[in-house]
Amino acid sequence: MASHGGIDLGGTKIQTVIVDDDHEVLGSSRRPTPTSGGPADVAAEIEAALREAAEQAGVEPASLAGIGVGSPGTIDGGTVTSARNLPNWEGSFPLAETLLDALGAPVTLGNDVQVATDAEFALGAGRPYSSLLGVFWGTGVGGGIVLDGKPWVGGGAAGEIGHIVVELDGARCTCGRRGCMEAYAGRSAMEAHATKLVEKGEKTDLFKLMKERKRTRLTSGIWSRALEHDDKLAQQLIERALRALGAGVASACNVLDVECVIIGGGLGVRLGDPYAKRIAEEMLPHLFADFRPPDVHVAALGDLGGAIGAALLAEGDRASIPTP
Ligand SMILES: [Zn+2]
Repeated sequence: MASHGGIDLGGTKIQTVIVDDDHEVLGSSRRPTPTSGGPADVAAEIEAALREAAEQAGVEPASLAGIGVGSPGTIDGGTVTSARNLPNWEGSFPLAETLLDALGAPVTLGNDVQVATDAEFALGAGRPYSSLLGVFWGTGVGGGIVLDGKPWVGGGAAGEIGHIVVELDGARCTCGRRGCMEAYAGRSAMEAHATKLVEKGEKTDLFKLMKERKRTRLTSGIWSRALEHDDKLAQQLIERALRALGAGVASACNVLDVECVIIGGGLGVRLGDPYAKRIAEEMLPHLFADFRPPDVHVAALGDLGGAIGAALLAEGDRASIPTP
């Protein structure tokens, strides 16, 4: 029986899993992503997290049939370039070779959002469908596409749903452009907006909750808590995000006409079904084929989806994902 390793490399955490042939998780580990240093430090942390998961699973890393990595940035073969939410990762770094040397098993790289979409398609909420759109609502808003049972990465930048324009000359986005969906719905954009409104004298418990929970960011958990407490500013900003998501996701559906939309990501998974329903409602006025809207589901694999998807990538049966 062959075991595979899967690594979800995110801006805030590194999640690793070891799975067996049936994709049962035998071991897992999570470590914070280093916020300083450079690619080599991130690679060392990935190695440590993979070793922890392997130990839990009772396997040697070198005995794994393969290890997959879902990474941000541009993937070209074994290198990752300009992974901007990772520390000092502007240039290219040979991540696959580095991890192969460190762990002794072959390494395959793929786009983080696409492997998470693929995992939902193969094993999660997307199983009944042949075409779907994965929407990962977190720090930013990422997207992954499966058409006719196959991942679609275009020239490598397909699925950048966060940068669909929902308002001409609108809010400034981290990509430098204006009016992107992410500039309204991304967690970091919402946090920046909340900060600005508080400076103008608006009241909210968001930052009080952040301090109480000893966080430096408005995490998904903090947004969720503030909504439960009927925090007016949090509700207002989430409503704004939902309207942007409705317009952006519906626009993508008007192009792709997929059967299903899967809502994942930190906020998407944390806020869950009621908010996925709200996104579906906000999509409706913008859908061309509004008489048969796509099904909208929350990602079923939750937080482990990205790492399990990366392990699938290592199995090679979906090897068309990694290199555009
Ligand atoms: Zn943008």
